[in-house]
Amino acid sequence: MAYDFDLYVIGAGSGGVRSARFAAGFGAKVAVAESRYLGGTCVNVGCVPKKLLVYGAHFAEDFEQSAGFGWSLGEADFDWATLIANKDREINRLNGIYRNLLLNSGVTLHEGHARLIDPHQVEVNGQRYTARHILIATGGWPQIPDIPGREHAISSNEAFFLKELPKRILVVGGGYIAVEFAGIFHGLGADTKLLYRGELFLRGFDGAVRKHLQEELTKRGLDLQFNADIERIEKQADGSLKVTLKDGRELATDCVFYATGRRPMLDNLGLENTGVKLDKHGFIEVDEQYQSAEPSILAIGDVIGRVQLTPVALAEGMAVARRLFKPEQYRPVDYNMIPTAVFSLPNIGTVGLTEEQAREAGHKVQIFESRFRPMKLTLTECQERTLMKLVVDAETDKVLGCHMVGPDAGEIVQGLAIALKAGATKRDFDETIGVHPTAAEEFVTMRTPVAG
Ligand code: FAD
Ligand code: NDP
Repeated sequence: MAYDFDLYVIGAGSGGVRSARFAAGFGAKVAVAESRYLGGTCVNVGCVPKKLLVYGAHFAEDFEQSAGFGWSLGEADFDWATLIANKDREINRLNGIYRNLLLNSGVTLHEGHARLIDPHQVEVNGQRYTARHILIATGGWPQIPDIPGREHAISSNEAFFLKELPKRILVVGGGYIAVEFAGIFHGLGADTKLLYRGELFLRGFDGAVRKHLQEELTKRGLDLQFNADIERIEKQADGSLKVTLKDGRELATDCVFYATGRRPMLDNLGLENTGVKLDKHGFIEVDEQYQSAEPSILAIGDVIGRVQLTPVALAEGMAVARRLFKPEQYRPVDYNMIPTAVFSLPNIGTVGLTEEQAREAGHKVQIFESRFRPMKLTLTECQERTLMKLVVDAETDKVLGCHMVGPDAGEIVQGLAIALKAGATKRDFDETIGVHPTAAEEFVTMRTPVAG
């Protein structure tokens, strides 16, 4: 049967665009449907605008610290509307770049919601298109628990477009988004509380990292409330919100921001017209080559719920394009040693196993740790400390994990990830000459284990 397209991609986000462009480059006839915004979550309501807001929030401490270097500034004044307008302009520019990337690589763009009609057919804006392969790359959507008053809460989607910086804000959750946005709002001057339901936030990160970040955020005056969960939210006559916690406490705030995970975006996708199956968490179930239970339909990125990070969606998109249209270049995605950063203030950077994971996996471990005051702060009043930690296999000397909390941790960990991927040993780290004076050189100068 002749199809309209070799590949029909649903969703022009990180994974979909990468797959569509490369498939077209390999000679396939490709279309992509996008219902909302080119570039997807990362470009519009994720990584990019988030990082711009983090930069914005960071100026507060730069201004404060500059006094130690002889600067005296007038009263600093921050205007949220300017930051948001400038951010929007930059995102518009990026949307245009994504459009050109697709069109210049020969991909047909359909702007509208795509719905599956059968395993080889998609409907967009009332038109039906057939395809040999269909790739679902529809991403995720914020999930807010069903509590009374949830309609008064916002998610990250709305946070990027608030008309005003709230005077008081409660950020709920203990994952990436909660920790990053609590830092943004606190840095920009909002009275910020972070509420997390468990003992300590950032479950799954190294224990020392979690504790260190807790201490640093507390030093900065961020109000961390652990073992705290919201029972209900009520709007008051003056427009403020009354929040009642499960332990009976009442908090007054102007904004409640839920960052409690993301669900797969499957709304009105027509999966019921196909044999695609979902896993027990509701994400699309795929095999190791991203094929769903319906042979003509593949899925990648956040909608399969493996690792919800842009570079992972990109790698998966690339793998699909190669497998379908350039099989001689196909390489499976390696999910080991994925580096990641939390753009909290200060940043977390991490790659490889945490100490807890290494011990659980049966490794005999040696732990190296360094805690120090960054050089930039020595002329200031700021008492912030940086943490660096190496988890080493005592038997093979292989470095199993690198963890950092401190300025530029995200930048530093990228290079370390290459070393770990190449199988570097602690001896390789020791024999590497440092770059002086930097914080990063600490990673090659830690000599005495703190624990074995
Ligand atoms: P998406 O980028 O979400 O793209 C899916 C696209 O499909 C969307 O454009 C959507 O409109 C479209 N779509 C959905 N349904 C349909 C349909 N039926 N028809 C047509 N189009 C449809 N990751 C990092 O690596 N680093 C970070 O710093 C980072 N920060 C983040 C901050 C926030 C606040 C959030 C929410 C996420 C962040 N992420 C970050 C995660 C990252 O954004 C995602 O992992 C990534 O965007 C997933 O890409 P994707 O291609 O799977 O989906
Ligand atoms: P996460 O899965 O990282 O964290 C969700 C948090 O919400 C957890 O602390 C979880 O607690 C808590 N939670 C879940 N359900 C409830 C509930 N019903 N009530 C109260 N708390 C709840 O999700 P995020 O929304 O922060 O981010 C989504 C994903 O996006 C991330 O996992 C990450 O992959 C990606 N991302 C990456 C970034 C980066 O690379 N810098 C930045 C932002 C997002 P518990 O731990 O107890 O389950």
